[in-house]
Amino acid sequence: MQTDFPVPKRVLFIVAHPDDTEFSSGGTIARWTQAGTEVIYVIVTDGSKGSDDPEMTPEGLARLREEEQRAAARVLGVSEVRFLGYTDGEVYNTPQLRRDLVRQIRELRPDLVVTFDPTARFFGHARINHPDHRAVGDTALDAIFPLARDRLNFPEHEREGLRPHHVRDIFLVGTNEPNFAVDITATIDRKIEALLCHRSQIGHPQELATYIRERARLAAEGTPYQYAERFRRLVLLR
Ligand SMILES: [Zn+2]
Repeated sequence: MQTDFPVPKRVLFIVAHPDDTEFSSGGTIARWTQAGTEVIYVIVTDGSKGSDDPEMTPEGLARLREEEQRAAARVLGVSEVRFLGYTDGEVYNTPQLRRDLVRQIRELRPDLVVTFDPTARFFGHARINHPDHRAVGDTALDAIFPLARDRLNFPEHEREGLRPHHVRDIFLVGTNEPNFAVDITATIDRKIEALLCHRSQIGHPQELATYIRERARLAAEGTPYQYAERFRRLVLLR
């Protein structure tokens, strides 16, 4: 397990739903923003399906989850949150989503991108990975390589003044093959505080805190840390 924590200038998260960033990486995000890294979220869907409340409408839920996401991002010192507005549960690797993600990469020019590992179909023998997570990870990786890097893809971007961009460093979350651990012992409280902003998605706050600590403790096994978050890191050759 590698542990040499990189502090890039700008990190771009490309995820499916409001709360994906905090659940997967909240402690790491707090470390980056404390170190001066600019962190930006691109949230592909509106989160409009994540409720069992019989009174809740998709539009009401989407509004609520956007507010919750912006509040959580503030707790972690995130610079900007962008919502692409795709319908929750209906994300596919389409030409339109590829174009949208390539545009974000070419505009924001991140040193490091965090997204989902699209090869994770199952977690153990009891959980299926969310199809939006697989689709977003799959499309984001296609956008990074080769689409955003090579200028002849989506040539309208060049006409608008956007230049090609090569992302070198990738952290994948929701993976079955982690090779990288980040020490979040000093930032786990901030992670929990940020997660508590997602009120529509969580049950009892104390149970959430216990669950997050337990997960982070397991992720730290085999490392010198008390609490960790794990990633599959890819460092691409030019
Ligand atoms: Zn999600």
